[in-house]
Amino acid sequence: MHRSWLWLLPLASLPLLAAPPVVRTEIRLPNLPDLVTLKCDLHLHTVFSDGEVWPPVRVIEAWRDGLDAIALTDHIEYQPKTNDIPSNLSRPYELAAGVAREHGLLLIRGAEITKSPDIGHYNAIFLTNILDIAHDDVVESVRLAHQQGAFVFWNHPGWRIAPDQPIVRPHQEQMIASNWLHGIELWNDDTPYTNVWPWAMTTKLTWLGNSDYHRPIPPPTEHHANHRTLTLVLARERTVPALREALFQGRTLIWSGNLLAGRREWLEPFVAACLQLDPPHLRDSKRVVAELRNVSDVPLELVRLEGTGPATISVPAGRSVLVRIAAPTNSPARLVYAVQNALCGPGEPARVQWTIER
Ligand SMILES: [Zn+2]
Ligand SMILES: [Zn+2]
Repeated sequence: MHRSWLWLLPLASLPLLAAPPVVRTEIRLPNLPDLVTLKCDLHLHTVFSDGEVWPPVRVIEAWRDGLDAIALTDHIEYQPKTNDIPSNLSRPYELAAGVAREHGLLLIRGAEITKSPDIGHYNAIFLTNILDIAHDDVVESVRLAHQQGAFVFWNHPGWRIAPDQPIVRPHQEQMIASNWLHGIELWNDDTPYTNVWPWAMTTKLTWLGNSDYHRPIPPPTEHHANHRTLTLVLARERTVPALREALFQGRTLIWSGNLLAGRREWLEPFVAACLQLDPPHLRDSKRVVAELRNVSDVPLELVRLEGTGPATISVPAGRSVLVRIAAPTNSPARLVYAVQNALCGPGEPARVQWTIER
């Protein structure tokens, strides 16, 4: 009797054949009134330039990591895999679009204009046709992207520029003056590109932070302790047009490691929304005791600036701490703190304050 198929029997009984489902780790961040905080990674590569990942995998990773939106931004001028994969800049978005719809993830068609370090790299997102913006001259390339209604931002400014050389050059000033360049990536993965931060504060550029991952992205650990660098976009709703509008209006924050960064006008109300000081549950003649709750995934470090309260307060992500506040009954207790890991600029922490009536 022919029994050569019998070796298959042990395989058929293996329970491993059922793959575990991909689980989404939700990111806990507050929404400001009338706005929704969209967690976005707007700089990602695939095998269609120098990345190691097939485009739909970027969508699955982003959904797993609790994101709302990603942009696929393969290099236009750097296509090292053309012997294996045909150069086709429209394919990453097309291949990923169906998986994005299935996962409810906002997917943005983008590309990275990739010139020499002194000219710089620029991501153009919300493009309609990527090939049409390819041009030897960076200013012309960015102008063509602008013509398509794209949001264009300057990636990792200062990358591979010698310390004695200027980072901001006339062509960037020209693109900003023409309103063709709209944003600047101040954080790229875990690297801050903050030498130009004081200059960026004098411009109207929108601030961004992205992963720029080329390899597969490791899953986040508990409480997003090792989350990828993100741009938090404060949009009117969770749609691609609302995301685009918020970027053009500069309503963004950066979340990299345990650091938040953003324009004071958005960062201070955001940090205030992360921290909730409950009404005191104990009041006596000399003090009040209240709980300070951190409803976000960002651990926050507070240092007293003026008023009363402990000299420092650490509030871990998603936890509460008990705060004992010296406060005589005859006057309200005023607490004013700097949030050391929420920066409006270099050495400029965001402030939060509370008043407790006595
Ligand atoms: Zn690359
Ligand atoms: Zn890149």
